[in-house]
Amino acid sequence: MRGDAVLSKYWSNVVRQLEPYIPGEQPKDKTYIKLNTNENPYPPSPKVIQVMQETVNESLRLYPNPACDELRVGISQYYGLTKEQVFVGNGSDELLAFSFLAFFNPGSPILFPDITYSFYPVYAALFNIEYQLVPLNEDFSISVNGFAEKNGGIIFPNPNAPTGKGIALTAIEEILKHNADQVVIVDEAYIDFGGESAVALINQNPNLLIIQTLSKSRSLAGLRVGFAMGHKDLIEALDRVKNSINSYTLDRVALAGALESFNDEAYFQDVRQRVIATREKTVARMKEMGFIVIPSIANFIFISHPLLPAITIYQQLRQKDILVRYFNKPRIDNFLRVSIGSDEEMECFLQAVAEVIQKHTK
Ligand code: PMP
Repeated sequence: MRGDAVLSKYWSNVVRQLEPYIPGEQPKDKTYIKLNTNENPYPPSPKVIQVMQETVNESLRLYPNPACDELRVGISQYYGLTKEQVFVGNGSDELLAFSFLAFFNPGSPILFPDITYSFYPVYAALFNIEYQLVPLNEDFSISVNGFAEKNGGIIFPNPNAPTGKGIALTAIEEILKHNADQVVIVDEAYIDFGGESAVALINQNPNLLIIQTLSKSRSLAGLRVGFAMGHKDLIEALDRVKNSINSYTLDRVALAGALESFNDEAYFQDVRQRVIATREKTVARMKEMGFIVIPSIANFIFISHPLLPAITIYQQLRQKDILVRYFNKPRIDNFLRVSIGSDEEMECFLQAVAEVIQKHTK
């Protein structure tokens, strides 16, 4: 918690106890090579930009469609679902927050991995949901057995963040089978970079909710669009939460741009393949430099050097105007998470890392 000195007497008891999530920095003081927030190095599809520009017109006078029907139909057709199985929102962070409220209860601890997206404990605290951490296995894979414990709900990302490591659909099926009475949320923010979506399991598993985002693989982090897929009753729960907070979470421009992004399949495939190819080249070079690289199916890699502390590499790279993410947390405080940039950016990164290693390990 922040020091007492900054607590205002006007704050509610809830706000006094909050420990908000801290996103990766977006500094403005100079131009950095930004490999710290898992953004896509490539722009959104030109068709998406064009549609959005056309949407900036007099119709902005009017509220958008609160049910977001067209976008939900577009996403449902893309994934072979019905509109009633799809929910859309203002970034997947919003959907995660709605889901904690919609599916988890105070007094019934939920489970998530000890090393995972650090927003989950923040939502848990906000909504007064207790949680138990399920330690990752030694190799940083998600422990399927750990999710067989009694619980009030489950959430984990596939691939996990910040490790980038994926979990097989058969393992997810096992987790779903053990937990038929609770909701299991699979956060697929990074699934398009090499994972297999659990969307195929939705029709057999009424307790499965999948959350995805357009921020990463569709290069639209600035637009703020995420979506959830699951049984229509789960979607209705999210709708009830939304309509108790804000009927219009997505604006007209975002609705139009997001829909177009699902129409331009060729562009989507091209960008995602480019990121994957750059990741694989980067991984090979990192290994040549002696790094331990956790096998990644995301648009970032999680790396550690046996001779040089991660914090030192982080600081030295920063001095060279390259930003990566360092987490000062048990088990991962000697790792760095590096987002995959363009080939040129990764070349600069690799050269800078090589210099740092050479300078400090002579
Ligand atoms: N889930 C995970 C695992 C993430 O890393 C992120 C990005 N910080 C999100 C969800 C949220 O993404 P967005 O709100 O941009 O959709």
